[in-house]
Amino acid sequence: MACIVCGNPQMAGLAGWHATCPACCYESAALTPAINAHTGPEVNEAEREAGLKALRLENFKTIVHYAKKHARPNARRLLDVGSAHGWFLETARADFDVLGVEPDAVVGSRAAARGLPVRSGYFPDVLAEGERFDVIVFNDVIEHIPDIRSALAACRERLDEGGILILNLPNSRGFFYRLSKLIARLGWRAPFERLWQKDLPSPHVHYFNARNLCQLVAGQGFELAEAAELPALRARGLLERLRCAGNVPTLSLYAQYVAIMAAIPVLRMFPSDIIVGVFRKKAAG
Ligand SMILES: [Zn+2]
Repeated sequence: MACIVCGNPQMAGLAGWHATCPACCYESAALTPAINAHTGPEVNEAEREAGLKALRLENFKTIVHYAKKHARPNARRLLDVGSAHGWFLETARADFDVLGVEPDAVVGSRAAARGLPVRSGYFPDVLAEGERFDVIVFNDVIEHIPDIRSALAACRERLDEGGILILNLPNSRGFFYRLSKLIARLGWRAPFERLWQKDLPSPHVHYFNARNLCQLVAGQGFELAEAAELPALRARGLLERLRCAGNVPTLSLYAQYVAIMAAIPVLRMFPSDIIVGVFRKKAAG
């Protein structure tokens, strides 16, 4: 199968469903999404929310900062694709007129019930004809979309002149992802499968690094405005996050907590597992 970034043939990866491009390092997975089918193992949604919320909110504040920094001075309309619980909409609505699109009907209606402007369905199908934005954001979403080129083309179409596209996604050069690949080579595949979200309702189908992501997006009529990393681990909310990993005995939980807290400054020396790319729509012609 040809690499979607550079067109070179991909090689077999670390599992039957995993492939890598030797030329640009793009990685893909032949995993099938089943949103709204909920066939995978049930994740305790409330616990997952609590565990991830503190980290997400901090990173979302940084993303709103990027949106304000790079969008035109009078930019107002912001679209959040895959708005999930609506946390990004809540973070951004002080600065923008926000709209969310969420394919998971249950999650989307729960956010809408909290008074957030969320449309249930897929981007760009649920948008009205001619509906356009100054900023489009994908938080942990683009890596789930099989036909990523069509999604990027739709972003270009739905952005006004000089509009900004912000992609926040996992980094294939990240410390934890590379560690999971090392461990998978040694025979234990669980962490690697977890990072691809294998067997969850919406698995990842792409793994990019800053460089091949930029190559793909630039080819769709955008130019890079800023590339950055966001912390994948923060001290705030860490304990809650560890708790939702399952029935871990208390002593072991605190041992993990102390070990990770001590490791955070060291981990900052390695590439983070979360990257963000800010792209500006190039003028036509
Ligand atoms: Zn490639």
